[in-house]
Amino acid sequence: MRFGIKTIDDFDVKGKTILLRIDINQPVDREKGTLKSIARIKACIPTLKELNEKGAKLVLLAHQGSDIEYKNFYTTQPHAKVLSELLEKEVEFIPDVCGPAAIEKIKSLKDGDILLLDNVRFVSEEQTLFEMKLQLSHEEQAQTLLVRKLAPLADLYICDAFAAAHRDQPSLCGFEQVLPSGMGRLFEKEYCVISELMESPARPCTFVLGGAKISDAFMMMETVLKAGIADKILTGGLVGNILLASKGDNIGQGSIDFIMKSNYGEYIEVAKKLYEEYPDNIVLPVDLAYVEGGVRKEAEIGSVPEDIGSTDIGSKTAEMYKEIILSSATVFVNGPMGVFEQSETELGTKAVWDALGDTKAYTVVGGGDSITATTKYEKTALISYICTGGGALIRFLTGEELPVVKALRHGAEIE
Ligand code: ADP
Ligand code: MG
Repeated sequence: MRFGIKTIDDFDVKGKTILLRIDINQPVDREKGTLKSIARIKACIPTLKELNEKGAKLVLLAHQGSDIEYKNFYTTQPHAKVLSELLEKEVEFIPDVCGPAAIEKIKSLKDGDILLLDNVRFVSEEQTLFEMKLQLSHEEQAQTLLVRKLAPLADLYICDAFAAAHRDQPSLCGFEQVLPSGMGRLFEKEYCVISELMESPARPCTFVLGGAKISDAFMMMETVLKAGIADKILTGGLVGNILLASKGDNIGQGSIDFIMKSNYGEYIEVAKKLYEEYPDNIVLPVDLAYVEGGVRKEAEIGSVPEDIGSTDIGSKTAEMYKEIILSSATVFVNGPMGVFEQSETELGTKAVWDALGDTKAYTVVGGGDSITATTKYEKTALISYICTGGGALIRFLTGEELPVVKALRHGAEIE
Protein backbone atom coordinates (compact mmCIF):
# COMPACT_ATOMS: atom_id res chain seq x y z
CA MET A 1 0.00 0.00 0.00
CA ARG A 2 1.48 3.31 -1.13
CA PHE A 3 0.88 6.55 0.77
CA GLY A 4 -1.13 4.56 3.35
CA ILE A 5 -4.08 4.58 0.97
CA LYS A 6 -5.80 1.54 -0.54
CA THR A 7 -6.43 1.24 -4.27
CA ILE A 8 -8.95 -0.75 -6.30
CA ASP A 9 -6.42 -3.62 -6.27
CA ASP A 10 -6.97 -4.05 -2.53
CA PHE A 11 -10.65 -4.93 -2.88
CA ASP A 12 -12.73 -7.72 -4.32
CA VAL A 13 -15.43 -5.57 -5.88
CA LYS A 14 -17.62 -8.16 -7.62
CA GLY A 15 -21.23 -7.81 -6.48
CA LYS A 16 -20.29 -5.04 -4.08
CA THR A 17 -22.18 -1.77 -3.82
CA ILE A 18 -19.59 0.97 -4.20
CA LEU A 19 -20.07 4.66 -3.48
CA LEU A 20 -17.75 6.22 -6.05
CA ARG A 21 -17.06 9.94 -5.63
CA ILE A 22 -15.97 11.47 -8.93
CA ASP A 23 -15.25 15.04 -10.00
CA ILE A 24 -17.17 15.80 -13.18
CA ASN A 25 -17.75 19.45 -12.41
CA GLN A 26 -17.88 21.29 -15.74
CA PRO A 27 -19.06 24.63 -17.06
CA VAL A 28 -22.74 24.25 -18.02
CA ASP A 29 -25.02 25.86 -20.56
CA ARG A 30 -28.13 26.30 -18.45
CA GLU A 31 -30.36 27.31 -21.35
CA LYS A 32 -29.60 24.22 -23.38
CA GLY A 33 -29.14 21.99 -20.35
CA THR A 34 -25.80 20.76 -21.67
CA LEU A 35 -22.13 20.76 -20.66
CA LYS A 36 -19.61 23.09 -22.27
CA SER A 37 -16.72 20.68 -21.70
CA ILE A 38 -16.47 16.99 -20.90
CA ALA A 39 -12.72 16.76 -20.12
CA ARG A 40 -13.21 15.78 -16.50
CA ILE A 41 -15.86 13.22 -17.35
CA LYS A 42 -13.44 11.57 -19.76
CA ALA A 43 -10.75 11.45 -17.10
CA CYS A 44 -12.75 9.26 -14.73
CA ILE A 45 -13.83 6.73 -17.35
CA PRO A 46 -10.96 4.23 -16.71
CA THR A 47 -12.00 3.80 -13.05
CA LEU A 48 -15.66 3.47 -13.96
CA LYS A 49 -14.94 0.94 -16.69
CA GLU A 50 -12.70 -1.16 -14.49
CA LEU A 51 -15.16 -1.31 -11.59
CA ASN A 52 -18.05 -1.96 -13.95
CA GLU A 53 -16.23 -4.76 -15.76
CA LYS A 54 -15.38 -6.34 -12.43
CA GLY A 55 -19.10 -6.56 -11.68
CA ALA A 56 -19.58 -3.88 -9.04
CA LYS A 57 -22.82 -2.01 -8.40
CA LEU A 58 -21.78 1.59 -8.81
CA VAL A 59 -23.37 4.59 -7.14
CA LEU A 60 -21.75 7.77 -8.43
CA LEU A 61 -21.59 10.86 -6.26
CA ALA A 62 -20.58 14.18 -7.80
CA HIS A 63 -21.02 17.91 -7.47
CA GLN A 64 -21.70 20.53 -10.09
CA GLY A 65 -20.94 24.18 -9.41
CA SER A 66 -21.50 25.75 -6.03
CA ASP A 67 -23.25 28.63 -4.35
CA ILE A 68 -20.25 30.83 -5.03
CA GLU A 69 -20.11 29.65 -8.63
CA TYR A 70 -23.85 29.84 -9.06
CA LYS A 71 -23.99 29.99 -12.83
CA ASN A 72 -22.71 26.42 -12.86
CA PHE A 73 -24.74 25.22 -9.87
CA TYR A 74 -26.86 22.64 -11.65
CA THR A 75 -28.21 19.12 -11.73
CA THR A 76 -25.87 16.29 -12.75
CA GLN A 77 -28.46 14.95 -15.18
CA PRO A 78 -26.56 16.02 -18.34
CA HIS A 79 -23.48 14.27 -17.00
CA ALA A 80 -25.31 10.92 -16.93
CA LYS A 81 -25.97 11.22 -20.64
CA VAL A 82 -22.31 11.96 -21.40
CA LEU A 83 -21.16 9.13 -19.12
CA SER A 84 -23.51 6.71 -20.89
CA GLU A 85 -22.11 7.74 -24.27
CA LEU A 86 -18.48 7.46 -23.21
CA LEU A 87 -19.00 4.12 -21.46
CA GLU A 88 -21.33 2.81 -24.17
CA LYS A 89 -23.51 1.61 -21.36
CA GLU A 90 -26.52 3.09 -19.61
CA VAL A 91 -25.72 5.25 -16.62
CA GLU A 92 -29.02 5.83 -14.90
CA PHE A 93 -29.71 9.19 -13.30
CA ILE A 94 -31.97 9.82 -10.33
CA PRO A 95 -33.00 13.37 -9.34
CA ASP A 96 -32.34 12.68 -5.68
CA VAL A 97 -29.20 12.58 -3.56
CA CYS A 98 -29.97 10.62 -0.39
CA GLY A 99 -33.76 10.71 -0.04
CA PRO A 100 -36.16 7.73 -0.21
CA ALA A 101 -36.07 7.60 -4.02
CA ALA A 102 -32.27 7.35 -4.13
CA ILE A 103 -32.24 4.78 -1.35
CA GLU A 104 -34.82 2.54 -3.06
CA LYS A 105 -32.94 2.79 -6.33
CA ILE A 106 -29.60 1.89 -4.75
CA LYS A 107 -31.16 -1.13 -3.06
CA SER A 108 -32.48 -2.37 -6.41
CA LEU A 109 -29.13 -2.17 -8.26
CA LYS A 110 -27.80 -5.34 -9.90
CA ASP A 111 -24.18 -6.30 -10.59
CA GLY A 112 -22.84 -4.08 -13.36
CA ASP A 113 -25.47 -1.34 -12.89
CA ILE A 114 -24.33 2.27 -12.70
CA LEU A 115 -26.38 4.99 -11.04
CA LEU A 116 -25.55 8.69 -10.89
CA LEU A 117 -27.11 10.62 -8.01
CA ASP A 118 -28.00 14.29 -8.30
CA ASN A 119 -25.59 17.09 -7.36
CA VAL A 120 -24.36 16.29 -3.82
CA ARG A 121 -24.16 20.02 -3.11
CA PHE A 122 -27.97 20.15 -3.28
CA VAL A 123 -27.75 18.71 0.24
CA SER A 124 -27.18 21.61 2.60
CA GLU A 125 -24.48 20.08 4.79
CA GLU A 126 -22.26 19.66 1.76
CA GLN A 127 -22.91 23.20 0.63
CA THR A 128 -22.75 24.94 4.00
CA LEU A 129 -19.28 23.59 4.53
CA PHE A 130 -18.14 25.05 1.28
CA GLU A 131 -15.31 27.44 2.07
CA MET A 132 -17.30 28.69 5.05
CA LYS A 133 -16.24 29.19 8.61
CA LEU A 134 -18.41 26.31 9.80
CA GLN A 135 -16.02 23.40 9.71
CA LEU A 136 -16.93 19.87 10.66
CA SER A 137 -14.28 17.40 11.71
CA HIS A 138 -14.15 14.19 9.71
CA GLU A 139 -15.96 12.40 12.56
CA GLU A 140 -18.71 15.01 12.45
CA GLN A 141 -18.92 14.69 8.68
CA ALA A 142 -19.69 11.01 9.24
CA GLN A 143 -22.83 12.16 11.11
CA THR A 144 -24.22 14.20 8.21
CA LEU A 145 -27.40 13.15 6.44
CA LEU A 146 -25.58 12.09 3.29
CA VAL A 147 -23.27 9.68 5.08
CA ARG A 148 -25.93 8.39 7.49
CA LYS A 149 -28.32 7.60 4.65
CA LEU A 150 -25.94 6.20 2.05
CA ALA A 151 -23.14 4.47 3.95
CA PRO A 152 -25.39 1.65 5.30
CA LEU A 153 -26.32 0.74 1.71
CA ALA A 154 -22.72 0.35 0.54
CA ASP A 155 -19.82 -2.05 1.02
CA LEU A 156 -17.09 0.32 -0.07
CA TYR A 157 -16.23 3.95 -0.71
CA ILE A 158 -13.85 4.85 -3.53
CA CYS A 159 -12.75 8.41 -4.19
CA ASP A 160 -11.57 9.27 -7.69
CA ALA A 161 -12.14 13.01 -7.29
CA PHE A 162 -8.56 14.22 -7.08
CA ALA A 163 -9.63 17.62 -8.40
CA ALA A 164 -11.70 18.03 -5.21
CA ALA A 165 -9.12 16.53 -2.82
CA HIS A 166 -8.60 19.90 -1.14
CA ARG A 167 -12.28 20.13 -0.13
CA ASP A 168 -13.25 19.14 3.37
CA GLN A 169 -16.83 18.01 2.75
CA PRO A 170 -19.01 15.01 3.71
CA SER A 171 -19.13 13.40 0.26
CA LEU A 172 -15.32 13.52 0.19
CA CYS A 173 -14.19 12.95 3.78
CA GLY A 174 -17.20 11.56 5.65
CA PHE A 175 -17.58 8.06 4.22
CA GLU A 176 -13.97 7.09 4.99
CA GLN A 177 -14.87 7.26 8.67
CA VAL A 178 -17.36 4.40 8.41
CA LEU A 179 -16.64 2.39 5.25
CA PRO A 180 -13.58 0.55 3.92
CA SER A 181 -12.20 3.08 1.48
CA GLY A 182 -9.69 3.56 -1.28
CA MET A 183 -8.73 5.74 -4.23
CA GLY A 184 -9.73 5.28 -7.85
CA ARG A 185 -7.29 5.09 -10.78
CA LEU A 186 -7.36 8.79 -11.66
CA PHE A 187 -6.77 9.83 -8.06
CA GLU A 188 -3.94 7.31 -7.84
CA LYS A 189 -2.31 8.56 -11.01
CA GLU A 190 -2.57 12.25 -10.18
CA TYR A 191 -1.41 11.76 -6.62
CA CYS A 192 1.58 9.69 -7.75
CA VAL A 193 2.64 12.23 -10.36
CA ILE A 194 2.59 15.17 -7.99
CA SER A 195 4.17 13.20 -5.15
CA GLU A 196 7.05 12.22 -7.39
CA LEU A 197 7.39 15.79 -8.56
CA MET A 198 7.68 16.85 -4.94
CA GLU A 199 10.02 14.05 -3.87
CA SER A 200 12.53 13.65 -6.65
CA PRO A 201 12.14 15.82 -9.73
CA ALA A 202 14.66 15.36 -12.54
CA ARG A 203 17.10 18.32 -12.45
CA PRO A 204 17.12 21.12 -13.32
CA CYS A 205 13.57 21.57 -12.11
CA THR A 206 11.85 24.75 -13.26
CA PHE A 207 8.57 26.16 -12.01
CA VAL A 208 6.71 28.65 -14.15
CA LEU A 209 4.27 30.63 -12.05
CA GLY A 210 1.96 33.23 -13.47
CA GLY A 211 -1.73 33.98 -13.43
CA ALA A 212 -3.69 35.73 -10.78
CA LYS A 213 -4.10 33.34 -7.82
CA ILE A 214 -1.65 35.25 -5.71
CA SER A 215 -1.95 33.68 -2.27
CA ASP A 216 -1.57 30.16 -3.69
CA ALA A 217 1.32 31.21 -5.92
CA PHE A 218 3.36 32.74 -3.12
CA MET A 219 2.66 29.91 -0.71
CA MET A 220 3.66 27.41 -3.35
CA MET A 221 6.79 29.40 -4.19
CA GLU A 222 7.88 29.42 -0.61
CA THR A 223 7.31 25.69 -0.14
CA VAL A 224 9.12 24.57 -3.26
CA LEU A 225 12.06 26.92 -2.65
CA LYS A 226 12.43 25.98 1.00
CA ALA A 227 12.29 22.29 0.21
CA GLY A 228 14.77 22.75 -2.63
CA ILE A 229 12.33 21.30 -5.17
CA ALA A 230 12.50 24.17 -7.63
CA ASP A 231 15.89 25.21 -9.01
CA LYS A 232 14.37 28.16 -10.82
CA ILE A 233 10.99 29.86 -10.69
CA LEU A 234 10.08 31.85 -13.77
CA THR A 235 7.49 34.44 -12.90
CA GLY A 236 4.91 36.21 -15.02
CA GLY A 237 1.33 37.44 -14.94
CA LEU A 238 0.23 39.15 -11.78
CA VAL A 239 2.72 37.07 -9.78
CA GLY A 240 5.62 38.60 -11.71
CA ASN A 241 4.10 42.06 -11.43
CA ILE A 242 3.88 41.83 -7.65
CA LEU A 243 7.50 40.68 -7.41
CA LEU A 244 8.65 43.56 -9.59
CA ALA A 245 6.61 46.05 -7.59
CA SER A 246 8.10 44.69 -4.36
CA LYS A 247 11.57 45.62 -5.65
CA GLY A 248 10.36 49.13 -6.40
CA ASP A 249 10.25 48.59 -10.18
CA ASN A 250 7.52 50.46 -11.99
CA ILE A 251 4.87 48.14 -13.47
CA GLY A 252 2.40 50.91 -14.36
CA GLN A 253 -0.27 52.50 -12.19
CA GLY A 254 -2.99 50.38 -13.81
CA SER A 255 -1.32 47.24 -12.49
CA ILE A 256 -0.81 48.70 -9.02
CA ASP A 257 -4.49 49.71 -8.93
CA PHE A 258 -5.44 46.17 -10.00
CA ILE A 259 -3.29 44.64 -7.24
CA MET A 260 -4.81 46.92 -4.61
CA LYS A 261 -8.36 46.44 -5.87
CA SER A 262 -7.88 42.67 -5.69
CA ASN A 263 -6.68 43.00 -2.08
CA TYR A 264 -3.24 41.66 -2.94
CA GLY A 265 -1.42 44.68 -1.48
CA GLU A 266 -0.11 42.63 1.44
CA TYR A 267 1.66 40.27 -0.97
CA ILE A 268 4.06 43.00 -2.01
CA GLU A 269 5.75 42.56 1.37
CA VAL A 270 5.58 38.75 1.10
CA ALA A 271 7.18 38.96 -2.34
CA LYS A 272 9.93 41.26 -1.11
CA LYS A 273 10.99 38.88 1.65
CA LEU A 274 10.88 35.88 -0.63
CA TYR A 275 12.97 37.55 -3.32
CA GLU A 276 15.52 38.74 -0.79
CA GLU A 277 15.90 35.18 0.43
CA TYR A 278 16.02 33.50 -2.99
CA PRO A 279 17.36 36.05 -5.51
CA ASP A 280 19.18 33.36 -7.52
CA ASN A 281 16.17 31.10 -7.85
CA ILE A 282 13.38 33.55 -8.59
CA VAL A 283 13.54 34.88 -12.14
CA LEU A 284 11.77 38.16 -12.86
CA PRO A 285 10.59 39.57 -16.18
CA VAL A 286 13.12 41.92 -17.82
CA ASP A 287 10.44 43.59 -19.90
CA LEU A 288 6.67 43.97 -19.86
CA ALA A 289 3.92 44.48 -22.42
CA TYR A 290 0.81 46.62 -22.32
CA VAL A 291 -1.92 47.71 -24.68
CA GLU A 292 -2.26 51.30 -25.86
CA GLY A 293 -4.89 52.31 -28.37
CA GLY A 294 -5.56 48.66 -29.13
CA VAL A 295 -1.89 48.03 -29.97
CA ARG A 296 0.69 45.92 -28.09
CA LYS A 297 3.63 47.89 -26.76
CA GLU A 298 6.64 46.74 -24.80
CA ALA A 299 9.00 48.39 -22.37
CA GLU A 300 12.06 47.23 -20.48
CA ILE A 301 11.97 47.25 -16.71
CA GLY A 302 13.09 50.70 -15.67
CA SER A 303 11.40 52.44 -18.58
CA VAL A 304 7.81 51.24 -18.19
CA PRO A 305 5.46 54.25 -18.55
CA GLU A 306 3.71 55.29 -15.33
CA ASP A 307 0.18 55.40 -16.67
CA ILE A 308 -0.21 51.91 -18.18
CA GLY A 309 -1.28 48.51 -16.89
CA SER A 310 1.10 45.70 -17.81
CA THR A 311 -0.72 42.58 -18.83
CA ASP A 312 1.97 40.38 -20.37
CA ILE A 313 5.68 39.68 -20.14
CA GLY A 314 7.73 41.26 -22.93
CA SER A 315 9.39 39.41 -25.82
CA LYS A 316 12.89 39.50 -24.26
CA THR A 317 11.52 37.81 -21.14
CA ALA A 318 9.62 35.33 -23.30
CA GLU A 319 12.84 34.39 -25.14
CA MET A 320 14.74 34.04 -21.87
CA TYR A 321 12.02 31.80 -20.38
CA LYS A 322 11.95 29.70 -23.53
CA GLU A 323 15.68 28.99 -23.24
CA ILE A 324 15.40 28.00 -19.59
CA ILE A 325 12.45 25.70 -20.27
CA LEU A 326 14.29 24.05 -23.15
CA SER A 327 17.27 23.27 -20.92
CA SER A 328 15.22 21.99 -17.95
CA ALA A 329 14.53 18.35 -17.08
CA THR A 330 11.30 19.00 -15.19
CA VAL A 331 8.93 21.89 -15.80
CA PHE A 332 5.87 22.59 -13.71
CA VAL A 333 3.51 25.31 -14.92
CA ASN A 334 0.65 27.03 -13.18
CA GLY A 335 -0.82 30.25 -14.44
CA PRO A 336 -0.45 32.10 -17.77
CA MET A 337 2.21 34.78 -18.35
CA GLY A 338 -0.36 37.42 -19.20
CA VAL A 339 -3.93 38.10 -20.22
CA PHE A 340 -3.66 35.46 -22.94
CA GLU A 341 -7.39 35.68 -23.67
CA GLN A 342 -6.56 38.86 -25.66
CA SER A 343 -4.46 38.56 -28.80
CA GLU A 344 -2.35 41.65 -27.93
CA THR A 345 -1.20 40.10 -24.67
CA GLU A 346 -0.87 36.41 -25.48
CA LEU A 347 2.74 36.47 -26.71
CA GLY A 348 4.31 35.53 -23.39
CA THR A 349 1.92 32.69 -22.66
CA LYS A 350 2.16 31.37 -26.19
CA ALA A 351 5.97 31.44 -26.07
CA VAL A 352 6.05 29.50 -22.81
CA TRP A 353 3.56 26.95 -24.09
CA ASP A 354 5.50 26.58 -27.35
CA ALA A 355 8.59 25.86 -25.27
CA LEU A 356 6.61 23.31 -23.25
CA GLY A 357 5.78 21.57 -26.49
CA ASP A 358 9.41 21.62 -27.67
CA THR A 359 11.34 20.79 -24.49
CA LYS A 360 12.51 17.28 -23.67
CA ALA A 361 11.68 17.91 -20.03
CA TYR A 362 8.94 16.15 -18.10
CA THR A 363 6.19 18.76 -18.19
CA VAL A 364 3.28 19.17 -15.79
CA VAL A 365 0.53 21.72 -16.27
CA GLY A 366 -2.16 22.45 -13.70
CA GLY A 367 -4.84 25.10 -13.24
CA GLY A 368 -8.07 25.84 -15.10
CA ASP A 369 -6.78 28.72 -17.23
CA SER A 370 -3.47 26.96 -17.83
CA ILE A 371 -5.37 23.99 -19.22
CA THR A 372 -7.37 26.37 -21.40
CA ALA A 373 -4.06 27.76 -22.71
CA THR A 374 -2.85 24.20 -23.36
CA THR A 375 -5.90 23.53 -25.51
CA LYS A 376 -5.73 26.94 -27.19
CA TYR A 377 -2.11 26.44 -28.27
CA GLU A 378 -2.74 22.79 -29.16
CA LYS A 379 -0.17 21.37 -26.76
CA THR A 380 -2.38 18.77 -25.07
CA ALA A 381 -0.61 15.82 -26.68
CA LEU A 382 2.84 17.30 -26.01
CA ILE A 383 2.54 17.94 -22.27
CA SER A 384 3.66 14.97 -20.16
CA TYR A 385 0.97 15.42 -17.57
CA ILE A 386 -2.07 17.67 -17.41
CA CYS A 387 -3.45 17.67 -13.92
CA THR A 388 -7.26 17.86 -13.73
CA GLY A 389 -7.09 19.09 -10.17
CA GLY A 390 -5.81 22.64 -10.23
CA GLY A 391 -6.86 23.61 -6.72
CA ALA A 392 -5.86 20.29 -5.19
CA LEU A 393 -2.52 20.32 -6.97
CA ILE A 394 -1.69 23.80 -5.78
CA ARG A 395 -2.81 23.06 -2.24
CA PHE A 396 -0.60 19.98 -2.28
CA LEU A 397 2.37 21.98 -3.55
CA THR A 398 1.89 24.52 -0.79
CA GLY A 399 2.80 21.70 1.58
CA GLU A 400 -0.62 21.18 3.14
CA GLU A 401 -2.02 17.70 3.69
CA LEU A 402 -5.07 17.30 1.49
CA PRO A 403 -8.23 16.58 3.55
CA VAL A 404 -9.29 13.72 1.27
CA VAL A 405 -5.84 12.12 1.50
CA LYS A 406 -6.07 12.25 5.27
CA ALA A 407 -9.57 10.75 5.18
CA LEU A 408 -8.52 7.98 2.76
CA ARG A 409 -5.68 7.03 5.09
CA HIS A 410 -8.27 6.68 7.83
CA GLY A 411 -10.52 4.67 5.54
CA ALA A 412 -7.65 2.28 4.75
CA GLU A 413 -7.81 1.08 8.37
CA ILE A 414 -11.46 0.09 8.17
CA GLU A 415 -12.12 -3.56 7.25
P1 ADP B 1 -4.88 28.99 -13.47
O1 ADP B 1 -6.39 28.96 -13.67
O2 ADP B 1 -4.13 28.38 -14.58
O3 ADP B 1 -4.49 28.50 -12.11
P2 ADP B 1 -5.04 31.75 -12.66
O4 ADP B 1 -6.51 31.57 -12.45
O5 ADP B 1 -4.21 31.98 -11.47
O6 ADP B 1 -4.45 30.55 -13.52
O7 ADP B 1 -4.79 33.02 -13.61
C1 ADP B 1 -5.39 33.14 -14.88
C2 ADP B 1 -5.89 34.53 -15.13
O8 ADP B 1 -4.87 35.50 -14.85
C3 ADP B 1 -6.26 34.73 -16.57
O9 ADP B 1 -7.62 35.04 -16.65
C4 ADP B 1 -5.39 35.91 -17.04
O10 ADP B 1 -6.09 36.80 -17.89
C5 ADP B 1 -5.02 36.57 -15.74
N1 ADP B 1 -3.76 37.33 -15.83
C6 ADP B 1 -2.58 36.90 -16.30
N2 ADP B 1 -1.65 37.87 -16.24
C7 ADP B 1 -2.24 38.94 -15.70
C8 ADP B 1 -1.80 40.28 -15.37
N3 ADP B 1 -0.54 40.68 -15.61
N4 ADP B 1 -2.71 41.12 -14.84
C9 ADP B 1 -3.97 40.71 -14.62
N5 ADP B 1 -4.44 39.49 -14.88
C10 ADP B 1 -3.60 38.61 -15.42
MG1 MG C 1 -7.95 30.20 -12.98
